[in-house]
Amino acid sequence: MQMEKVALSKLSKEERRSFFQSKYDYYHSFNVRMIVVSCLAYLSFFATDCGIFGRFSYETLLSRVIILLPFVLYLVLDRKVKDYRIMVPCTYLMIHMIIWCTDWATYLLPDRQHAISGMIIMNLIFMCAGFAAPFAYSVIAHALLIADIAVANIFIQYENLSMMYMFNIPCVVAVCAMHLMMQGVYLEQFLDKNKLERLVVHDQLTEVHNRNILKGISETGTGKLTIFPNLDVCMMLIDIDYFKKVNDTYGHEAGDKVLIALAGIIKSSLRITDYVIRWGGEEFLVIIPGCTQAQAMQIGEKIREKVESADNGICKTTVSIGVALYQGGDYHETIKNADDAMYKAKEAGRNQVVLFG
Ligand code: GH3
Ligand code: MG
Ligand code: MG
Repeated sequence: MQMEKVALSKLSKEERRSFFQSKYDYYHSFNVRMIVVSCLAYLSFFATDCGIFGRFSYETLLSRVIILLPFVLYLVLDRKVKDYRIMVPCTYLMIHMIIWCTDWATYLLPDRQHAISGMIIMNLIFMCAGFAAPFAYSVIAHALLIADIAVANIFIQYENLSMMYMFNIPCVVAVCAMHLMMQGVYLEQFLDKNKLERLVVHDQLTEVHNRNILKGISETGTGKLTIFPNLDVCMMLIDIDYFKKVNDTYGHEAGDKVLIALAGIIKSSLRITDYVIRWGGEEFLVIIPGCTQAQAMQIGEKIREKVESADNGICKTTVSIGVALYQGGDYHETIKNADDAMYKAKEAGRNQVVLFG
């Protein structure tokens, strides 16, 4: 399948938010594991402290162990909050805490020349955090990494501050550039996934939903509708009258055009919250939440009149419509009732709307 390239700037604000949330969700478990590994690595550097001191480094013990506090808080928050706008900054805050604790431990060490090696590790951690983060967030977090060095220098007075900058600034630029590229790669995947998901629940000819959409709005096994549980829901089956004749007289392609035109009329007669589903060949199922039987009959009549008076460019067509109220339980029962009503409309001469019961 050929997929077109779309830039992030072309997406609406809502679509961008959904993209970033999807990116965060996709890399979520990697993100959490990355924080776990980073904290464990930070703790394990206590052994390095002992190596530098040449004995048990009781001076740096607190600065190492204290990381467990924000780490536990992070894990608790991660279980409760799923929004990337909160969790991505928290992830970066967690990494900055590791940096601050590293600065604290470095301050206590007799030999600070290894600070630059520590920064290699921090850049690696930042690189991993960028998978789940929006690019703009990662740029801000990196700018703060440079600020961290400047602030830490007030206390630590690095022996090689200029080297710290000269080494870290190119690293930060390279990691940010990689994040931008990674975001582009995920955007392509996100758009492809959305297109495929759309195809799964849409009819390719008429572009209304297909039957698969019902799986998303009903309970598996019971068939109970899960949408708008406190509202009346009406269903409608709409079938074109003598459609075989249309195909026989004008050809199958012309028949397809009639179907597309009918789908357009049905959609334009309903609200955005209603569902239009191609149920069979020339049969459409409509699900209308928050609608009484009387209102559904009015909507049905409106559709019937519009179809009768419309010019679809092929021939005059009419529809027969069956209406039924969803009474809880399996939605198939309501469809059967709407189908019964629709057949009554056919028997009564077609081009009419009939209510079940
Ligand atoms: P009735 O008034 O009783 O509904 O008569 P009818 O001719 O519409 O009867 P029926 O519902 O059995 O006919 C359905 C026809 O719809 C048969 C089939 O050729 C046609 N059909 C089904 N799917 C498509 C499609 O995708 N495109 C076209 N052009 N025709 C289709
Ligand atoms: Mg039919
Ligand atoms: Mg028909």
